[in-house]
Amino acid sequence: MNESKHSCELPVMKGHCKTCPFKRNEQGFWQNPELAEKVISRTLFKGQQICHGTEGDNREPTHRCRGSYDYNKFLYDCMGMGNLISEEAMPIEKLSEKVFG
Ligand code: SF4
Repeated sequence: MNESKHSCELPVMKGHCKTCPFKRNEQGFWQNPELAEKVISRTLFKGQQICHGTEGDNREPTHRCRGSYDYNKFLYDCMGMGNLISEEAMPIEKLSEKVFG
């Protein structure tokens, strides 16, 4: 049985998997910008995305989305809130303390 976890308790992927929409093509652009934009919207306004590339044979989710994390971190940094998110795994209590003090 899977142990239930908050998404912040999972680290972010170290890199992009082969089919990741955020992976750069030969011209240096995202290889699937339409899908990347959907993932960004989802992760900014709904919740974290768990990267399917980490699930392996047992379909166990282990990492959050790298592509959207990098993009969203830039936005959070621009708003002066970059310290509120982390690519490291973080207990929910620690995240609550960071956000709400
Ligand atoms: S979950 Fe994120 S990092 Fe993983 S393949 Fe999809 S867009 Fe890329």
